[in-house]
Amino acid sequence: MGGVTDVAPAAPTRVIFLGPPGAGKGTQAARLAVEWQFARISTGDMLRDAIAKGTPLGREAAPIMERGELVPDGLLLGLIRDRIRQADCASGYVLDGFPRTLPQAEGLEAMVGNADFFVFDIEVPRAELMRRLSGRRWCPTCQSTYHVDTSPPTRKWLCDWDSTPLVQREDDKETVVARRLAEYDERTRPLIQYYQGRSHFKFHRIDGNRAPDAVFGELKSILEAGR
Ligand code: AMP
Repeated sequence: MGGVTDVAPAAPTRVIFLGPPGAGKGTQAARLAVEWQFARISTGDMLRDAIAKGTPLGREAAPIMERGELVPDGLLLGLIRDRIRQADCASGYVLDGFPRTLPQAEGLEAMVGNADFFVFDIEVPRAELMRRLSGRRWCPTCQSTYHVDTSPPTRKWLCDWDSTPLVQREDDKETVVARRLAEYDERTRPLIQYYQGRSHFKFHRIDGNRAPDAVFGELKSILEAGR
């Protein structure tokens, strides 16, 4: 008899991050993606990329994003539908910044059927969010993020990866941040209740007001335990 044991391929792991701008979704999603080799799907990054390339989607999204409002659901659902079909999503993916509205959540379920998801809701007090967003700096080439106090680049103020000068995202400026937080409260926060009531979604509230390593440790143990 051969020594090869048949092992059923592990079911893909799918993760949704909820939480307001500045909660650390991008940082944690990137770390999860590296550790588990999941695809990281950041709709904000995809839209900023479309703007940089001047595509029709980018031209439509740019003025909306500048105001701190949400881009229409139909555009986001189209982006996600194409993205999750790609080969790198087969073993799992992390959604960072999607869904952000009820129609987006319903649209996602219509695409994936009864698939299981982990949902991490990262909570951070408002004053801390403002501190994080106002100090956030961003590389327009590779989209890495930094913070002037807590995670500065090695050389002031150049990206560690490609030496591009870092900038503040237009929508991290104070007046726009207020609009983004209001959009979160009105349109995204209701998804917490939505997911808490659905059996295919393993919902976890995470205290994001801690060092990134501590938050990551908790996410990791939840995923490893498959809870
Ligand atoms: P983020 O980088 O996730 O903070 O997203 C930046 C901006 O992109 C948001 O303020 C929205 O204007 C837009 N955006 C990103 N994801 C979505 C989404 N799922 N639905 C609507 N707009 C989005």
